[in-house]
Amino acid sequence: LGRRINAAVTDLTRAPTLDEKAFDGMIKTISNALAEADVNIKLVANLRKTIKASVKFHELPPHANKKRIIQKAVFDALVDIVDPHQKEYVPKKGKSNVIMFVGLQGAGKTTTCTKLARWYQARGFKTCLVCADTFRAGAFDQLKQNATKAKIPYYGSLTQTDPVVVARDGVEKFKKERFEIIIVDTSGRHHQEDALFAEMVEIQTAVQPHQTIMVLDASIGQAAESQSRAFKETADFGAIIITKTDGAAAGGGAISAVAATHTPIVFIGTGEHLLDLEKFNPQSFVSKLLGMGDIQGLAEHVQSLNLNQKDTMKNITEGKFSVRDMRDQLQNIMKMGPLSKMAGMIPGMGGMMQGMDDEEGGMKLKRMIYICDSMTVKELDSDGRMFVEQPTRMTRVARGSGTSVREVEELLTQQRMMGGIAKKMKGGMQNMQKAQGQM
Ligand code: GDP
Ligand code: MG
Repeated sequence: LGRRINAAVTDLTRAPTLDEKAFDGMIKTISNALAEADVNIKLVANLRKTIKASVKFHELPPHANKKRIIQKAVFDALVDIVDPHQKEYVPKKGKSNVIMFVGLQGAGKTTTCTKLARWYQARGFKTCLVCADTFRAGAFDQLKQNATKAKIPYYGSLTQTDPVVVARDGVEKFKKERFEIIIVDTSGRHHQEDALFAEMVEIQTAVQPHQTIMVLDASIGQAAESQSRAFKETADFGAIIITKTDGAAAGGGAISAVAATHTPIVFIGTGEHLLDLEKFNPQSFVSKLLGMGDIQGLAEHVQSLNLNQKDTMKNITEGKFSVRDMRDQLQNIMKMGPLSKMAGMIPGMGGMMQGMDDEEGGMKLKRMIYICDSMTVKELDSDGRMFVEQPTRMTRVARGSGTSVREVEELLTQQRMMGGIAKKMKGGMQNMQKAQGQM
């Protein structure tokens, strides 16, 4: 999608006459690309109007960077759609906050439940899981395994077949034990079915969740709109989590779901690991959707600075990005400045540094480097997975570097994301260079 939109913009900016007709043609190409990426058709039509209205083409100064202006208009229009424009749900400390998950089978509910539990646990909440999926054989085992790995207390039953009873018993038990975050996993079905919806409503009535989250697979496509609408009408949910954003899907369906239900995306799943959960950030989500994460611009800048880049580039072409590469990048960023601008160029980094001035950001970077410096050579040269497999490593590193486990986690999430990008870039480097030559 990003490539097609960029191509459309490039075509326009290289056209012999930059007239309004060419601009209209480009908006059409962009709209088609969005529709193909599963953004809802009506939504695309609206976007088209918004973009046209926001770029007053004939009023642009002759030497304006039209490409940037148009890209920005597309970007802003999409961000506006996925931006929740509302306050997020914040669980209360010292109280029992019940969070219920709904969604179709395979959407990623069980996986994401554990990730979210882990996320809250790392932030000091007393957290637990309830498995109310009695429909799928092995569902409880799956949750048990995940929960055990993450050291999170769980409840479920191998004999009770009524999910409503399991949910109610589990929530009651944990409330008595003064758990602060009680996450209820439910079953899905392959399709939207009456039985599923009836079950959801019954569980909702029984456990009275403070927040209901619908889990949506990024690859859902055009079905996103009707599916999220149907769920919304029966089991009114207040938040969406998009999973598998690390996959090949463009994720346009996610945008449609938000637009159809006026419900914010709160997190995105970025992989199968326990730590692959990120707070949703409208800007980075849309950047990714449009392929605008300015990694190319960053690479150019870095090359011009002649920094310690050789090994990392070699690794990236091989589809690897170790923790050491992450550390080298951090050090390079510190050399480059101004920090806020540089951080914004790295996907994911912008969000992490949000609201910080250069001094705060600099402190943060230093802490991240301290974290790396507290690692063993083996850990530094690893892909970071050993930290997930042995979480005590994180505790040790946090202690050694005078930071927190949360910060270590954050660094590893960033590194893993870069690893994912490196993997995708492997082999695609030549294509990218070709594309770059055309710009
Ligand atoms: P459920 O039926 O909704 O409970 O779905 P599961 O949690 O069992 O997930 C279905 C599959 O999706 C599993 O193989 C998960 O590992 C995988 N999965 C879930 N979230 C993600 C994600 O963010 N990225 C990737 N790559 N896989 C995911
Ligand atoms: Mg499940």
